[in-house]
Amino acid sequence: MTAAIIDGKAFAAKIREKVTAHVAVLKGEHGITPGLAVVLVGDDPASQVYVRSKGKLTVEAGMKSVEHRLEADTSEAILLSLIDDLNNDPTIHGILVQLPLPKHLDEDLVINSIDPAKDVDGFHISNVGLLGTGQKSMVPCTPLGCLMMLREHHGSLSGLDAVVVGRSNIVGKPMAQLLLGDSCTVTIAHSRTKNLADVVRRADIVIAAVGRPEMVPGDWIKPGATVIDVGINRIDAGLKDDGSPKTRLVGDVDFAGVSAVAGAITPVPGGVGPMTIACLLANTLTACCRANGVAEPESLTA
Ligand code: NAP
Repeated sequence: MTAAIIDGKAFAAKIREKVTAHVAVLKGEHGITPGLAVVLVGDDPASQVYVRSKGKLTVEAGMKSVEHRLEADTSEAILLSLIDDLNNDPTIHGILVQLPLPKHLDEDLVINSIDPAKDVDGFHISNVGLLGTGQKSMVPCTPLGCLMMLREHHGSLSGLDAVVVGRSNIVGKPMAQLLLGDSCTVTIAHSRTKNLADVVRRADIVIAAVGRPEMVPGDWIKPGATVIDVGINRIDAGLKDDGSPKTRLVGDVDFAGVSAVAGAITPVPGGVGPMTIACLLANTLTACCRANGVAEPESLTA
């Protein structure tokens, strides 16, 4: 079997088109421009790339984009004061603090200082609780993007066995909540899971969110299963012509091996990554609509 490729890049472009159209209506009919503020502390190269890309696509969608780049040794008090200013800024509807933060900053404290209504990453404890109890919330962008691709591919997910490998607060746990919300039978696996291969082999849907390059091989996959690869890992790829080191991006899944067994798979790059940013823009638009009492565009992520 050769797996169908779930094209996250193309799907994300369609969502961004819809967001752009809604933003134009918001501006034209209500005189409101959605605003997204991204806060980056330190100079982590991968985070800088993500922030640049988020800012560019925010502007392309017709929204206001604000970036705050702070030194790596910024104090917690200064960061909290900036978040307080953004919470009180009526032109900003979404606030994203790029993670991970430098070690001296308390990530939970910082995230929970964001106004939950502007928490477009969905990491605030209030949004986590709302999601866990099946109430309307801000849904974390990466798991939301994965869910949208699964719905698009399968239609109904009801009754399917899903295994999420990874239990982080930003991917694994909210992913499991979303799959449960769509009536999957959900297993969450992690580094202490026994017989991981056997656990994964039972799944109709596998979500790999581990951060270990190509960890999931083809013989862990049930024939015909759908595999969503969240991992983004940069690995060595020999040397360039000029002798300098070359790298390439791979996921948490052995793409060639798994493609030979799975029914469908997301590539890396071009799968989950672009969907994450599209969902961030959709969440910012939603937050703006809620803040202004304007009807939300349900169709974006439904
Ligand atoms: P994380 O916080 O480091 O969590 C990794 C999870 O994997 C943990 O729950 C850990 O288990 C589990 N794990 C580690 N080794 C394992 C093993 N050998 N067997 C089974 N489980 C194992 O990572 P994350 O933030 O969730 O991110 C996961 C991956 O997704 C990373 O590659 C990251 O770059 C990528 N990511 C991509 C996007 C995107 O937009 N595409 C967004 C976010 C993250 P324990 O809890 O037991 O330690």
